[in-house]
Amino acid sequence: MMTSGFRLPPDITFDKQVLQNGMAYMFRHQMLGELGRLVLQEAIDGQTCIECEVVGDPADPMTAKRAAIMQPLGLELSRILGAPAGAPNIDPAKLPPRSPEPKEVIESQVIPCDRCGKVVAMLIFAPAAIDSGRFEDCARKMYTQYAALNVPTWIIGPALGSGPLMDRPADMLKVWPKRESMQRLRPAEFNPMIEKFATRHCQ
Ligand SMILES: [Zn+2]
Repeated sequence: MMTSGFRLPPDITFDKQVLQNGMAYMFRHQMLGELGRLVLQEAIDGQTCIECEVVGDPADPMTAKRAAIMQPLGLELSRILGAPAGAPNIDPAKLPPRSPEPKEVIESQVIPCDRCGKVVAMLIFAPAAIDSGRFEDCARKMYTQYAALNVPTWIIGPALGSGPLMDRPADMLKVWPKRESMQRLRPAEFNPMIEKFATRHCQ
């Protein structure tokens, strides 16, 4: 159904999924990871209708960024098909379910205060996060958890380079309470920073 006339920006790729009464196109952005999907369904009157579904928690500011990219894609596809496109939908409950994602356990660790035991920081481990898009996938999947916990949270990528693990840096993305740009730190730089949260909470 997607014709060659579809102009896809170079940093966006897609996969197709066949639905019972239509098609879904899942889009992925190089920097932002998974964006969402356009669901094409045949209505009773034979007209194709296009729904735009954006992934992520509606409260996550990144969800609006994904929606801003998805909307023109939906409009472009509706232009090609001559079908009306709905506004981006960030409440996918009424759309056909997405094909199940592979079972995935995201490992995380909470850091307690040395004295009172209250959680003071959270580390999320993303050993497969070898690029920005995969960091964002992880940030999206864990958003609800770190927003609820409301302590400083980092997503930590795989150890880079070679040599003893303690000497190898990793990319780290601070996602809460404020997003910061990606940093590349060695354990000797990162661990003392985290320890401060544990030792200074009750001082
Ligand atoms: Zn404390």
